[in-house]
Amino acid sequence: MINVRFAPSPTGELHLGGARTALFNWLYANHTGGKFFLRIEDTDKERSKQEYVDQICESMKWLGLDWDGPLVFQSQREKDYHNAVQKILKEGNAYRCFCSKDKLDEERKAADKERRIYRYGQTCQNMESAEEMDRLNRGESFTVRLKVPDGETSYTDHIYGPITVENSEIDDFIIARSDGSPTFNFVCVLDDNAMGITHVIRGEDHVPNTPKQIIIYRLFGFQEPEFAHLPMILGPDKKRLSKRHGAPGVQQFRDEGYLPDALLNYLVLLGWNPDTKQEIFSRENLVELFDIAQVQKKGAVFDEKKLHWVSGQHLFRLSNDEVLQHMEEVFPDWGSGADENYLLEVISSLKERVRSLSELKSLSSFYFEDPDTYEEKASRKRWKDESVNQSVAAYLSSLEGIHDWSEDKLELALRQTAEKLDLSSGKLIHPVRLALTGIGFGPSLFELMQILGKDTCIRRLKIALEKLPQNI
Ligand code: GLU
Repeated sequence: MINVRFAPSPTGELHLGGARTALFNWLYANHTGGKFFLRIEDTDKERSKQEYVDQICESMKWLGLDWDGPLVFQSQREKDYHNAVQKILKEGNAYRCFCSKDKLDEERKAADKERRIYRYGQTCQNMESAEEMDRLNRGESFTVRLKVPDGETSYTDHIYGPITVENSEIDDFIIARSDGSPTFNFVCVLDDNAMGITHVIRGEDHVPNTPKQIIIYRLFGFQEPEFAHLPMILGPDKKRLSKRHGAPGVQQFRDEGYLPDALLNYLVLLGWNPDTKQEIFSRENLVELFDIAQVQKKGAVFDEKKLHWVSGQHLFRLSNDEVLQHMEEVFPDWGSGADENYLLEVISSLKERVRSLSELKSLSSFYFEDPDTYEEKASRKRWKDESVNQSVAAYLSSLEGIHDWSEDKLELALRQTAEKLDLSSGKLIHPVRLALTGIGFGPSLFELMQILGKDTCIRRLKIALEKLPQNI
């Protein structure tokens, strides 16, 4: 049975890197019929906040990354951690270190000066028990350090392959601070063991922690999990993606009207592909195809353009009804007052032109309101002078006589007007579009006119004839 987990620290909202780690774990569990747990690593009491726990859970739910069993909080396991520290001390695999901060700083400085990597000098490793008792009785503060055994530590990473580290390169690292609180590597092992985690899938930044954790597994005699470290997500400058790159948290994608499945699809491509050309996947596809062995080692570059493309592809593949449903959830006020059929027509005309629900919302505004301004560049180009008013007025008068307000009829009338005036049809199509929408691009003009209806088109053309051209 496979058990994996996602273990965020609630010191900030869920960002793209975290979401991708969660996704790969979730996919692995679902692909293999295993379980996916969510553990909140809230031992840093100052920086951990309930509001971030809530945000992380909400983002996970929005993404549809549902987890098994109750949430696990490290803060509720303090007693177990304390007992484990006592046990490992008793077994002689850890020791109390009374070295002061000043002393350690001095050692560190000396190492820097001699240009060698600093490692703790193990001053307290072989302290006589009488001295230890004495210092304890005097109330001296101490940390607890792991006694790193001789030898080497090896494991095979699912993504990076075999990794071996000489234990002599590993410090006798602290497992409990002077206030008694246990450190990350120690609690991580205790939790993963207690939760029966079989595969640890996490960011590559944890590679240096893994040998330390394996040493702890071995000292406790715990069953070691397998490890898979995911490549970094990089910004366009090839540095680790961060807020500096303006990479938004997951909630912002939701608020901007991205579909959760589109974001998941984009995230999965940051480090994985199925070795085919396929790039657009449904959630079910992903569960079926995902294989941890196909995750690449190379850092994956966050590419906003690609995200937009993937997102647009997902929107395009939804039915109009499904898009409407999403719009109602994300923007409940969108198109209020308009009837459902009208909204479906609007969606159908714009669906393939937009990359997100919020773009659909903003681009569709002309379907609901008369334009109150005209895009400057478009009006300068398309409605240069009064001659345009004459040709648009001619089209307007032919429109007034049309009863069957259909795309074909509207197009025929336009072409006939243009012919009569000896103009190319573009000379009419562009100004009419500008008059109707206020902008210089959008769906096919005749489709647009059919959806808007006769009254609205005639009203808007009349208004535009009064307001345009605007640059004389
Ligand atoms: N809390 C750690 C982090 O946010 C997770 C470590 C792990 O997955 O083992 O990086």
